[in-house]
Parts: sequence; structure tokens; C-alpha cells
Amino acid sequence: MTDLASRIAENLARVQTRIADAARASGRQADQVQLVAVTKYVGDEEVRALAAAECRDFGESRPQQLWQKAEQLADVDCRWHQIGHLQRNKVARTLPLIDLLHSVDSERLLRAVDEAAAGLGRRVPVLLEVNISGEAAKHGLAPEEIAPLLPAAASLAHIEVRGLMAMAHLAGGREQARIDFAQLRELRDCLQADCPEGVALGELSMGMSDDFDLAIREGATIVRVGSALYEGLPR
Ligand SMILES: *Cc1c(COP(=O)(O)O)cnc(C)c1O
Repeated sequence: MTDLASRIAENLARVQTRIADAARASGRQADQVQLVAVTKYVGDEEVRALAAAECRDFGESRPQQLWQKAEQLADVDCRWHQIGHLQRNKVARTLPLIDLLHSVDSERLLRAVDEAAAGLGRRVPVLLEVNISGEAAKHGLAPEEIAPLLPAAASLAHIEVRGLMAMAHLAGGREQARIDFAQLRELRDCLQADCPEGVALGELSMGMSDDFDLAIREGATIVRVGSALYEGLPR
């Protein structure tokens, strides 16, 4: 094994241990929390090292980078997640490559995804992105925009809503992040009380390198972790 591969395998094992600990602390099993390894900082070699260490889910925030990696790594047995903003003109090329779209941030995008998915003869799993911090620079629907969107989502035959996604405040540290995660869970719990048939809200995609343990304690079912996997690598 190369130095790079063994360092990545160690980092991955450490992250997985923290996930398992936090899952147990919240009364769940480790395998009830899914790790999406965010690969936006690294190249093919690092992704291959992660795959060799049995990591199977990869996330990219920019669609162009996802296209490139998915093509160059077509021989790797893995699933791709689009975790950042997806422009409507990039939907058609992105959908065939991904297993889950984390970042539906408008009704127009939702409808564009439905149309493209119909063309592929597929039902595409999506999460609705909530701008829980209210920061202007962030994408995502306002919390109060989610409920009115659910009946529309339920009516689209090629969309499968599985839950919500959010990013914590950029500043504010772990304490603010914990509050943000709790708010996303509370929003989900509220929405679930009156959720149209055909829409599921079981998945919560929240938590990154600095706070994924807190996110899991607040109910995350998917964590998106990047930098913690690449610690100690030459840049
Ligand atoms: C980059 C990114 C992450 C991972 O962030 P780290 O702090 O490096 O773990 C997670 N989610 C999204 C949407 C991102 O863009």
C-alpha cells in the first residue's frame, strides 16, 4: 500500500469509529448512518484509495467535477451523490451518474429533475435542501417553503423525496451547528405529521468534518465528510 493509501485508510477508519460511537450514543447502529465521502478536494488517486478501503459513496459539490470523476473512475464500484447546487441546464447530464441528489433548492429544479428522470425512465431519489441558517450566501429553500412544496413533489411521478439536507452556519462553531441540526430535525418532525403520500422524510443529510458527530446525535442519517478523510496528506 502506498503512503497515501494507508493514510487515507487510517483517516477513514477514524471517521467510521466516530460515526459508530455517535450512532450508538443516539440509540442506533453504526450502519444506520451513511457516510458520503466528499471528494471535491482530491483527485482520482485519493478516491481509489477510499474505494480500496471499502468506502462506496462519494459526493461532489460541483456537477462538472462529478461528471469528470464519474467518467475517470467508471471502473470503481461506487455511488455518486450530487451535494451542491445543481443548475437546471446540468440536470440531464448529472442524473444518469448519481444515486442521490441532496440539493433540490427550488420547485423549478424539482420539476426539471422530474422531466429529465421521465426521459430516463427512472425515478430519482432526492433530498430537499433547507437553508436552515438563513445565510444569504447559502442555497436552499426557506424552512417555511418546504410544506407547500410537498404536494407538488408527491405529484411528480419520477421524483422520490427521501428527506431533507442542510448545512450549518459557516461561523458559530459546534454549538451553533448543533442548534442548526436540531432545527432541521424539528422541521422534519413537524412536516412528517402532515406528509402527503409518496413523500418520505426519513433521511436527514447533515454534518461535515467538524461536526458530524453532533449531527448524528441530532438525528442525521447521512453525513457528508471531506477534509477529515485527507488529514496528513501532502497538498
Ligand atoms: C465540502 C462539502 C462538505 C464536506 O465538508 P468538510 O468540512 O470538508 O467535511 C459537505 N457538504 C457539502 C455540501 C460540501 O460542499
